[in-house]
Amino acid sequence: MRVWNEIDPSRLCKKHLLAEHRETLCVWSVITNNKKGYSKHPETVRYRHNLNALVYRHIKLVHEATKRGYNFKDLPNSNNIPSLNVIPDSWDNQEKSLSSKDCDCIKMESLR
Ligand SMILES: [Zn+2]
Repeated sequence: MRVWNEIDPSRLCKKHLLAEHRETLCVWSVITNNKKGYSKHPETVRYRHNLNALVYRHIKLVHEATKRGYNFKDLPNSNNIPSLNVIPDSWDNQEKSLSSKDCDCIKMESLR
């Protein structure tokens, strides 16, 4: 599970954009439904008291997906939660971590 909140979604490859969307839904579900599985995962811990930031990130992912012709579903029951860009600290350097992956993330930018 990984939320790449420090990386603009336009810089994500298709695989990571789709995966992050799934993962934001998962983190959301674990927190809002008080699930045990993944409750100690670093991303769950990071967003547990920062649901506003998770909503904000999810909206950004949905915008990018819409631009690329995908139809991402909203976070369930998130209408009453204001979207705020209050980014919780990451546990590592996201830019460095993502650029080391064998995909077009981040590198895509230089090709444009
Ligand atoms: Zn990627």
